[in-house]
Amino acid sequence: MFDTLSDRLTSVLTNLRGKGRLSEADIDATAREIRIALLEADVALPVVRGFIKGVKERAKGSEVSQALNPAQQVVKIVNEELVTILGGETRRLELAKNPPTVIMLAGLQGAGKTTLAGKLAKWLSGQGHTPMLVACDLQRPNAVNQLQVVGERAGVPVFAPEPGNGVGDPVQVSRDGIEEAKRAQHDMVIVDTAGRLGVDEEMMKQAADIRDAVTPDEILFVLDAMVGQDAVATAEAFRDGVGFSGVVLTKLDGDARGGAALSVREVTGQPIMFASSGEKLEDFDVFHPDRMANRILGMGDMLTLIEQAEQAFDQEEAEKAAEKLGTGQLTLEDFLEQMQAVRRMGPLQNLLGMLPGAGQMKDQLANFDEKQLDRIQAIIRGMTPAERSDPKIINASRRQRIARGSGVTVSDINDLVGRFFEARKMMQRMAGQFGGFGGGGGGS
Ligand code: GDP
Repeated sequence: MFDTLSDRLTSVLTNLRGKGRLSEADIDATAREIRIALLEADVALPVVRGFIKGVKERAKGSEVSQALNPAQQVVKIVNEELVTILGGETRRLELAKNPPTVIMLAGLQGAGKTTLAGKLAKWLSGQGHTPMLVACDLQRPNAVNQLQVVGERAGVPVFAPEPGNGVGDPVQVSRDGIEEAKRAQHDMVIVDTAGRLGVDEEMMKQAADIRDAVTPDEILFVLDAMVGQDAVATAEAFRDGVGFSGVVLTKLDGDARGGAALSVREVTGQPIMFASSGEKLEDFDVFHPDRMANRILGMGDMLTLIEQAEQAFDQEEAEKAAEKLGTGQLTLEDFLEQMQAVRRMGPLQNLLGMLPGAGQMKDQLANFDEKQLDRIQAIIRGMTPAERSDPKIINASRRQRIARGSGVTVSDINDLVGRFFEARKMMQRMAGQFGGFGGGGGGS
């Protein structure tokens, strides 16, 4: 699902990794590539334009976070913009104050309405509701029968016109269905309606008549995610002809390019509420814009890492450290603080494992010994404040004292102090090159 889009976006964003600073040209180039990726995924042009504008403005704007490097910031911005166009918050069903809650399904033939009726009914039963299905698709031969089969599998009753009653009047059936639901005290009714292969007036009128007869609490527009640009036109036709309060995307298990999913909310103003991803009744779930965005970006773990970094990060501490780095004044005390900040994000092994490409480092990761970090922390804690802030004074006798105090050997201390001086020198050089570590230019 959305594989091509996902691959494209991931590679665009991966190209940014390792850049210490993003120039306007970098951002423009990235925006251009994202634009192409979205257009290829068949996302509607106005939606693409709005998306790119949002990403560019935010990436160029003052939104610099000290906790993240530039590439991470762009990933975060793209992710948040994706969540926004997918609808932001998860939208739940509106329940009627006086049951039954009436849910009407509308959409083209083959969109997956009948299948959805069963899925929704089963899901609602699982939530403790007592749904009933009403078969108002009297157009398609066998539709009533199909709904009865689906209802049986879902374990919910189906109200249908008596066989042999001719074609019947779907509006009357819908009315009778609601009456029956009230009588039998079902708290929810799902009304399946007829679809056509294409939008036509007669079909819209019938759907509108059923709508007026049953005054639904929710009208769900069922949309096959596999159709590309056409989805937008169909959605607009249903919005204008019948109106709807939410969208259900079906066939997300297919080779969908993503265009329908990413466009429908912006174009119609109505949120995607459920997603259907297979022919089985269980292949169904509430639609969560944030989770979908994560899946499209294919960077779920990366985003978790970004969140954790932001949470564990103490802006003030880091600013102080960054300043000291540039002037070569970093002390072991700062080093200890930074190390503690990183470790607050969880075991280092997990952190490293979340980085893209970590798969290849599995063996090294498995051998990584968290105790090494404990040892370094113990050594620094065994030093006096004067020693921590000016490690140069740590002479041979001090080394012996610290080693005894922290339960390590003198050569461990030599190692640590040596590596600290090395690191400080290197950071000073880097700071000189990049003009300081502030402004989120911390590199990756
Ligand atoms: P309706 O005409 O809108 O009622 O559509 P149906 O419910 O009859 O579905 C049309 C076809 O799509 C059927 O063969 C379903 O099995 C299939 N279908 C429905 N939902 C999904 C889905 O989420 N994934 C897949 N792969 N097939 C689906």
